Amino acid sequence: MQRSELTIDLGAIRRNVRRLLDVLEGAELWAVVKANGYGHGAVDVGGAALDAGASVLCVATVPEGLQLRKEFAAARIIVMGPPATSREIALAREAGLELTVSTDEIPEGVSIHLKLDTGMGRWGLSELPVPTAGVVGLMSHLATADSDPEFTETQIRRFREATEPYRHLTRHLANSAGALRFPDARFDAARCGVALYGLSPFGTDPGDDGLEPALHWSSQLAQVRQLAPGESTGYGRRFVAERPTWIGIVPVGYADGFRRDLTGTEVRVGGEPRRAVGTISMDALAVELDRELPVGTPVTLLGHGVLAEDHARAAGTINYEVVCGINSDPARSRRVVVDS
Ligand SMILES: *Cc1c(COP(=O)(O)O)cnc(C)c1O
Repeated sequence: MQRSELTIDLGAIRRNVRRLLDVLEGAELWAVVKANGYGHGAVDVGGAALDAGASVLCVATVPEGLQLRKEFAAARIIVMGPPATSREIALAREAGLELTVSTDEIPEGVSIHLKLDTGMGRWGLSELPVPTAGVVGLMSHLATADSDPEFTETQIRRFREATEPYRHLTRHLANSAGALRFPDARFDAARCGVALYGLSPFGTDPGDDGLEPALHWSSQLAQVRQLAPGESTGYGRRFVAERPTWIGIVPVGYADGFRRDLTGTEVRVGGEPRRAVGTISMDALAVELDRELPVGTPVTLLGHGVLAEDHARAAGTINYEVVCGINSDPARSRRVVVDS
């Protein structure tokens, strides 16, 4: 029996792409597939996104871009993070990747996007130089599109003013939250990551924004036992039974990406919501049952109604981190790609 199975639904990716294209009303959709497609698989997701109408693939690093180039000979691939070394710049040039530049030093022989800092306070030029010949795009990044509309409007205004003289270049500002909530942020293209995977940039139910989660993570009960009052499960005895309590052991733990701080979150056991109890171990977790269930009863850890947004709330983090942390190493889980 597999310890767990990760199913990526490319049909859901395509439907999310179409939903975002609808929202963007003519601006291009650029699919952000950094960090192995937010844990979903950059090659599978990138292919489906391009098929469905996305026009560019965006990654964070040059090595990520080089990996994608092997699979997508003709696609535009933009590296959004700064190149680490001059060797990386040479490799990017050779592979036809586009680079993002946040300094006055602009590499030659490669298409460049100049990044302006309009309020993220991270990468980015504080003032836009006059674009040189290799510059094809102007960009900035929103810091609060999911939380502070006023500051977002300020960033949009700063970006518009700084880039207005260069309307012949491709101007791009919005991430998923910006694309969904701020029509003014759309400019020529939006760089959407989290929404592409059917996850909400607002931490709410993605269905509210017409998005559909593309990842299903399932396992099964590998052991079922009853704890007598006073008996416990797991490290540190964090869960002690007060009355005779059935628990199920699921062979998935934090090394698989089911984070240690997910104690108390809800998964589904045989379709019914059940709580993860006790300390999550490296290779296993326990769920509280209301009765004896057979070994092999299916457990849904994510997807099919179990939201990454709910896990994130339980763990005090964001859905991005929940999915990026999932370990798809075949030594730990089986990965399946479907197209619904
Ligand atoms: C990761 C990233 C995005 C995508 O953000 P989402 O919130 O996942 O849509 C867009 N732009 C830049 C520069 C990024 O680093």
